[in-house]
Amino acid sequence: MNETDNTKTNQALFEQARQLIPGGVNSPVRAFGSVGGTPYFVERAEGPHVHDVEGRRYIDYVQSYGPSILGHAHPAIVDAVVAAAARGTSYGAPTENEVLIAAEMVGRVPGLEMVRLVSSGTEAVMSAIRLARGTTGRDKIVKFAGNYHGHSDSLLVAGGSGVAQQGLIGSEGVTPGAVADTIVAPYNEVPELDDSIAVVVVEPIAANMGLVAPVTGFLEGLRTECDRVGALLIFDEVITGFRLCRGGAAEWYGVAPDIWCFGKVIGGGLPMGAFGASTKIMSNLAPLGGVYQAGTLSGNPLATAAGLAAMSRLDTAAYEQLTAIATSLQEGMSGAFANAGVAAVMPRVGPLVGLFFTDTAPTEFDGAKAAADNGVYRRFFHGMLDRGVAFAPGAYEAIFVSLAHGPTQIEETVVACREVAAELTAG
Ligand SMILES: *Cc1c(COP(=O)(O)O)cnc(C)c1O
Repeated sequence: MNETDNTKTNQALFEQARQLIPGGVNSPVRAFGSVGGTPYFVERAEGPHVHDVEGRRYIDYVQSYGPSILGHAHPAIVDAVVAAAARGTSYGAPTENEVLIAAEMVGRVPGLEMVRLVSSGTEAVMSAIRLARGTTGRDKIVKFAGNYHGHSDSLLVAGGSGVAQQGLIGSEGVTPGAVADTIVAPYNEVPELDDSIAVVVVEPIAANMGLVAPVTGFLEGLRTECDRVGALLIFDEVITGFRLCRGGAAEWYGVAPDIWCFGKVIGGGLPMGAFGASTKIMSNLAPLGGVYQAGTLSGNPLATAAGLAAMSRLDTAAYEQLTAIATSLQEGMSGAFANAGVAAVMPRVGPLVGLFFTDTAPTEFDGAKAAADNGVYRRFFHGMLDRGVAFAPGAYEAIFVSLAHGPTQIEETVVACREVAAELTAG
């Protein structure tokens, strides 16, 4: 222990971080920009809790924005990663675990026949778009306002999550050329396509503008419209994949895309993403076909070990448990808001929950933005954080529960929520 260890505070670390890292963070939302205040610097985490460097413990509903579905530092994942690390951390040659995790994914998702592993959700969607363009020989892509697909150039328009929090419609440094072939459509309306469209990319449940479920007929309509003009359909299941249910959103809604993108849960908390499709489409990918895609750390042995350990625990019973936890959280918190007379809606699809401080659940980006930016969330956020409950530091994020969240944590959260709701109405 050196001397500075005793003086570590969130404030001191944040100040130092801001000298060395833009905004003090390695992903914008972590800087607390939209809620104000100083981020807590995590020292360790276990189960449903994170601990900061000042020794405070929080019930964690960030859960790394989705990956930590078993809870933090689950022994099975820790053991798998430690054992894998002892065998070497990266080889640049194929491994058995890559085959096993591919089989696990293909076995869960009807229609998914082949996958390629990458190191992030961004890479998964970026590569899936290239594959779709290469497969169709067309240029144009359609995305939906408020859907977030990572930070690759052509998809960085009208994005949710951190992009929306920064009040950006896109990003500086993205050339007009890079987005010239990107068409933005309103979520939950089936756009009319033509045969210039290569691909439609959608979050089957929008989870980066709060939580916005697809209205009845939306996903089915996209499927039909894509088929009509010969465009491909991508489901960006980076959040929904292996969190919603065994087979993800495609199974949940009974609509299959042409290409799936995965991330977050699939890596068990380590950097991993994946995209996949039928054998026919995936055969267009190098080395079989002419669409190039590669990665030094792709299929990384630590990530596949962690991912397999997580996936092997995600059976039907696990999803029922996760949904029960999410339901009790949603019911408890909704009740607290209603009793206090706070206008709030908490949409839920299975284990996915959102929170909007408004009367009716939005169905598209403008409504979600109006609710996210009305100033209530930041007061809610700090009220909860002061009481030891960490929600995401931004109103555009979904609420993530893990299998480690139990009735005790839910009850503590609801008690805190009652107090905060009373504060909100007090003005
Ligand atoms: C998080 C997310 C991404 C990007 O994944 P990264 O691992 O952060 O690159 C893409 N799509 C969706 C739907 C996401 O939620």
